[in-house]
Amino acid sequence: MKKHHILVPEPKSKFQKVKCKECNEESIIYSHVTTVIQCVHCGNVLAEPAGSIAKIKGDVLGSAE
Ligand SMILES: [Zn+2]
Repeated sequence: MKKHHILVPEPKSKFQKVKCKECNEESIIYSHVTTVIQCVHCGNVLAEPAGSIAKIKGDVLGSAE
């Protein structure tokens, strides 16, 4: 009988690529921000701290680790 390894995704912090909805500028955002992150291009809010994890306002394109 084979043992099955179940991969449990660890809730670790990571970087995410987020596209600004206003100007389509891509930014790398840490998933556990403690301050409001604004787009460097237009100043639109991309992420804001919400508890322990960031609330992403833009379009998440995927992780950027
Ligand atoms: Zn922008």
